[in-house]
Amino acid sequence: MKTAFFAACVASAAAFAPSTKPAFGTSLAGKQDFLEAEPYWDQSTVPVNVYKNKAPFTGKVVSTKRIVGPKATGETCHIIIDHNGDFPYWEGQSWGVIPPGVREKDGKPHSVRLYSIASSRYGDDMTGKTGSLCVRRATYWCPELKAEDPAKKGICSNFLCDTKPGDEIQMTGPAGKVMLIPEENPNTDLIMVATGTGIAPYRGFIRRLFFEDTPAANAYKGTAWLFMGVANSDALLYDDELQEVKKKFPNNFRLDYALSREQENKKGGKMYVQDKVEEYADEIFTKLDNGAHIYFCGLKGMMPGIQDMLKSVAESKKIDYEEWVKELKAKKQWHVEVY
Ligand code: FAD
Repeated sequence: MKTAFFAACVASAAAFAPSTKPAFGTSLAGKQDFLEAEPYWDQSTVPVNVYKNKAPFTGKVVSTKRIVGPKATGETCHIIIDHNGDFPYWEGQSWGVIPPGVREKDGKPHSVRLYSIASSRYGDDMTGKTGSLCVRRATYWCPELKAEDPAKKGICSNFLCDTKPGDEIQMTGPAGKVMLIPEENPNTDLIMVATGTGIAPYRGFIRRLFFEDTPAANAYKGTAWLFMGVANSDALLYDDELQEVKKKFPNNFRLDYALSREQENKKGGKMYVQDKVEEYADEIFTKLDNGAHIYFCGLKGMMPGIQDMLKSVAESKKIDYEEWVKELKAKKQWHVEVY
């Protein structure tokens, strides 16, 4: 069943990223099993910091595409980078990018910026030779000018969003092991909470568990539940892919959006991601009691609202919130990557 879906996904991946590779349907015909550990869930060989600042890897841009609608707040791009199979990574890891040029203040090279990898280890073209980033262009709104001040725009995100096919990117990593998928128990429920580009690692998870013919996908029996918060429907990311997964795997994939400028929470305020999670708080607490893993990724500012909400739910259930979180952390069920 998953194999049939895989074939459909190859076609849809081709439609999603038309400029990726001519290889769709040919080199993609096989299984995605050639980049696996032995056994596939064993995380002891996850690569970390293979390429460092002093000797970075040079990746090549395959394509850079704006992936939000005209009414989105800001611009987000999906960037596919060719690493020729020489820069392997696992789902949930990040790559570092060193933007070209030097800092204005001291003439030193720019420092590295981290970006969560938004593809599975096999890449969007499933060859194992590419990886994707989901980058929001950082702009600076000047209150005095009442306009964007280009002199203060974000260095690395603008560099990445302006790249063209063939451009070279200096990269480090892969970084991080906090956002890996616990694959040893294929019944584990995954609760993934994102704001904006925080969806990036989850896209990698979802492709691995539902799009690809991986050992992890074939074994997976749990429920992966994505909560995604953005400003409006034009700012949704990867919605077409997610809807396909939801349609095909209604028992294993759930998707809930919080659109702060289009929906109201139950108190009549803006619908933020924590309000959407709160709607299902009983179910989520039960899942966590039963061993689910919960992930948070996106802007730092998302965490206080989420923690306040979880705390108030815990109090209503006469649960000691601090102890509850401590226990989840001790059991490695609590994963946070915010920036
Ligand atoms: P910088 O040049 O570092 O500037 C930072 C901010 O300051 C910008 O908003 C800029 O407009 C503003 N600024 C610049 N000059 C001034 C000034 N003079 N006065 C006032 N403000 C000024 N980002 C993503 O988009 N996608 C991801 O998947 C992602 N994953 C991440 C994962 C991790 C683990 C971490 C730590 C971060 C991640 N980030 C991600 C954030 C990313 O690393 C960068 O921080 C982000 O892209 C901004 O970098 P920049 O170089 O564009 O901006």
